[in-house]
Amino acid sequence: MREAERSAGRAGGYCWLEHPSAYGHCTKRPHTDRRHIDFYTGRMSPTDTRGKEWME
Ligand SMILES: [Zn+2]
Repeated sequence: MREAERSAGRAGGYCWLEHPSAYGHCTKRPHTDRRHIDFYTGRMSPTDTRGKEWME
């Protein structure tokens, strides 16, 4: 990922932790728990409410 994209995600108010398998990035608001979610990756349809979750 380009640094500009990384900065854009963080500037957008996201946690933005990279998924360990490079699925995407955590798109939760900045948080202190270990449960990260990429709301935009892993959704099978626009009506799915949650995406890819992982623990760190
Ligand atoms: Zn996160």
